[in-house]
Amino acid sequence: MNEPLQNIVEPLLHWFDSNKRDLPWRRDTEPYHVWISEIMLQQTRIEAVMRYYARFMEALPDIRSLSEVDDDRLLKLWEGLGYYSRARNLKKAAVAVMNDHAGQFPNTFTKLKKLPGIGEYTAGAIASICFDEKVAAVDGNVLRVIARIQGSRENVLLPQTKKVFSEELTKIMPRHSGAFNEALMELGELICLPNGTPLCSACPLRSCCTAYRENLTAEIPVRVKKLKRSRKDLTVLVLLTPDGRIAIEKRPDTGLLSGMYQLPNIEGFYTENELFTILQDWHLSPKTIRFLKDAKHVFTHIDWCMKGYTAEITEPSGRFLWVTEHQLSAAYPLPTAFRKITD
Ligand code: SF4
Repeated sequence: MNEPLQNIVEPLLHWFDSNKRDLPWRRDTEPYHVWISEIMLQQTRIEAVMRYYARFMEALPDIRSLSEVDDDRLLKLWEGLGYYSRARNLKKAAVAVMNDHAGQFPNTFTKLKKLPGIGEYTAGAIASICFDEKVAAVDGNVLRVIARIQGSRENVLLPQTKKVFSEELTKIMPRHSGAFNEALMELGELICLPNGTPLCSACPLRSCCTAYRENLTAEIPVRVKKLKRSRKDLTVLVLLTPDGRIAIEKRPDTGLLSGMYQLPNIEGFYTENELFTILQDWHLSPKTIRFLKDAKHVFTHIDWCMKGYTAEITEPSGRFLWVTEHQLSAAYPLPTAFRKITD
């Protein structure tokens, strides 16, 4: 850890004490209130939640009323908040609390996490705010603040980063764990703003913040989205002349495997008859075409699924480079993906 996180505890609590917003669900530490507000705040702006929260509490003031509410009425109360599975899970959890916990909200992080719709963050928030349990509640705001304080370039979108930050915070968690967790979230929402525009001059943690000191607030936190894997089907051709030369060509100068050499290939899978026609279009007259093998090559973000064929070409055309095996291994870099077909 670059910066002793311990140093943030006192100034942060002090700042929170005099700067926290007066929000309806902060007026007491009743778990039902904290829970409903935390679930509403997922994916919804605080200003919008204020209105919905008041209406919801008026209609369903306690866990029993939520557990008994008619589904249509519940969804009507949730109308406008979106992500309706959140509302359905609220009712499921309320029923579980009534049936399995005699109407008493579970009072530990571990038990809370077993309720429908309650994940690590919500369980941490309820356990710390309502029951003073020394557990972290790490949301996007907290990840940003901690990454900046520590000057961490770890990808904050990875579960592993969240886990590590959570463990570090748990180690320094003060007695007033709920206030500490809320203070971190509040600082992230009001001062340590995203997109490189934090209000550092108003921040109580300036003196222990690595990103501020080293002018890195525009670069931290690092958020790298996992790229979706894709798949490409390729028909790969081993075109051979009777004297043992093989056809290769250079790949484009940009993109995957740029500047290397490749075996002739076509996107998609083709039958031997279709390949016959394609080769004729290329002004090559194949004597024979034979299926060689299937092969797969996994790149970082794409999988190539290849079907290899070999064809005997009596009159090699100028379209490709025709090289001997020795020339190929000595002078032309052929990526492993294609070697899986030639080997
Ligand atoms: S000093 Fe700036 S970057 Fe550091 S925690 Fe405070 S607001 Fe965030």
